[in-house]
Amino acid sequence: MSEHIKTTEPTEGSTNFIHAFIEEDTAPGGRCAGETVHTRFPPEPNGYLHVGHSKAICINFTTAQKYGGLCNLRMDDTNPAKEDTEYVDAIREDVRWLGFDWGDNFFYGSDYFDTQFELAVGLVEKGMAYVCQLSPEEFKANRGSVGVPAVSPYRNRPVAESLDLFLRMKAGEFEAGAMTLRAKIDLTSGNFNMRDPVIYRILHTDHHRQGDKWCIYPMYDYAHPLQDALEGITHSLCSLEFEDHRPLYDWVVEHTGVAHKPRQIEFARLFINYTVLSKRKLRKLVEENFVSGWDDPRMPTLAAMRRRGYTPQSIRNFAERIGVSKAASVVEYAFLEHCLREDLNATAQRAMAVLRPVELVITNYPEGQTETFQIDNNPEDPNGGTRPVSFSRSLWIETEDFMEEPVKKYNRLFPGNFVRLKGAHIVRCTGCERDEDGNVVRVLAEYDPALPAGSAPEGIKVRGTIHWAATATAVDATVRLYDNLFSDPDPDAADKDFLACLNPDSLEVLTGCKVEAGLADAAAPANFQFLRTGYFCVDSKDSVPGRLVFNRSVALKGSFKKS
Ligand code: ATP
Ligand code: MG
Repeated sequence: MSEHIKTTEPTEGSTNFIHAFIEEDTAPGGRCAGETVHTRFPPEPNGYLHVGHSKAICINFTTAQKYGGLCNLRMDDTNPAKEDTEYVDAIREDVRWLGFDWGDNFFYGSDYFDTQFELAVGLVEKGMAYVCQLSPEEFKANRGSVGVPAVSPYRNRPVAESLDLFLRMKAGEFEAGAMTLRAKIDLTSGNFNMRDPVIYRILHTDHHRQGDKWCIYPMYDYAHPLQDALEGITHSLCSLEFEDHRPLYDWVVEHTGVAHKPRQIEFARLFINYTVLSKRKLRKLVEENFVSGWDDPRMPTLAAMRRRGYTPQSIRNFAERIGVSKAASVVEYAFLEHCLREDLNATAQRAMAVLRPVELVITNYPEGQTETFQIDNNPEDPNGGTRPVSFSRSLWIETEDFMEEPVKKYNRLFPGNFVRLKGAHIVRCTGCERDEDGNVVRVLAEYDPALPAGSAPEGIKVRGTIHWAATATAVDATVRLYDNLFSDPDPDAADKDFLACLNPDSLEVLTGCKVEAGLADAAAPANFQFLRTGYFCVDSKDSVPGRLVFNRSVALKGSFKKS
């Protein structure tokens, strides 16, 4: 099993155990001295990429970059069952969006079917593969166990007989399951992957690119090493579940006689709490309408994260900082959010948006008068500049920014209290008006016309600052607030029904929100920090000028603690 290799602290531009192996291999006298480092990212196009894949994408592409090498993007469409061009297109878009470029090196695993078949014929001819006629049930019953070898009565059948049957398998003479082609390796091996594994099976299923050309398909463990070898991959970087398959990988490369011999290196898969990272489970959420689609902003797919307002940089930073190791661990979802917050804090334009509005009237501010205040676009950015924001007697403020009878430590509007209106005047609350049902319909305040905007009256310490939007100019918006899609921290656990772990309150839609006038024409992929409420982006699907829709990407403060 896995030797646990300690990695260096993951920091920007860090090296890790994969880099150490590569440097050993490319050093003078190493197994690929003088060769260009060549990696690949080989997704199966049976769903959209998720944030787990972004770890593999970043490792493969950045490793190639680090050594001036190449990284292929390969659709592993060996299995004909579930592939779809929608997924192929989405995968290409996502990898490009993350900022990686495969140049001309885009491939389909199915393009090697002919060569792989020829190489399999070669194995049969060398007596290294045979046609086995155990039924699937018999095959299982004859796998043996620890210390008990597997059995196949067909193992020693003449080469000519296997060859004849294999060609007839390809010609479509037999039913699915009637026979398989098995590599002749070692029925006694302690590694069950080496107990004469099946390398071809019969499947009378059309392939999305090959049509009905094939009715036999190579198994992943046979196809994958050959795809790597035929593309000249020097280092095949994959997740840890393939570790026990590495001897078979090496066997296939060795015995088919392909010229190029890639080296497989495994790293731990990424797990994140409060989510599932399996295309099969994600597809179920989509197909059974638990979410609105693969790009529902609550999903952990890259398409959804893009729509949610994640930046490529934040995901690359996340992948870099979780590091590369052999030890599987669960990363906190809060850390992913932390990486996003950090990126947006530096880059997002600030704006004021009132999510649950109530009117504030400054009763001694002249009707019809307006002022324009210049407010910082981004205090974190010295070149961020300012924007004009219009102020008037009637403003929208958050309902929760007024309490007639304040709770302890409440610094916002309550009768008698002074509050700063962000970037504008300081006002003193004088009370409120209520409707027949007792709901506050209007909060009332006064300002001191004799004071310059922003200055507090003599001797008054103003503790609270609230955001606002002038009612005359504010534009309406719909705002979607998201919570974790799952309320259970480990919905992916094998013993759990992940659908039962769904959070019923993962989406809250607020309508009639009021955003400052400057956002009227905002369009995706714009990101904003709405003061005090979080980072938001314009929804790329549903927002149009006049009917704005914002998604909350992440709240301002998270639960992630920097250690
Ligand atoms: P899924 O269960 O989501 O379908 P998969 O491993 O079957 O995952 P592939 O399309 O075969 O998905 O993945 C392509 C590559 O991405 C593989 O090399 C795989 O190791 C890697 N990968 C997939 N999920 C993760 C993850 N959570 N962390 C790191 N790498 C991953
Ligand atoms: Mg898969």
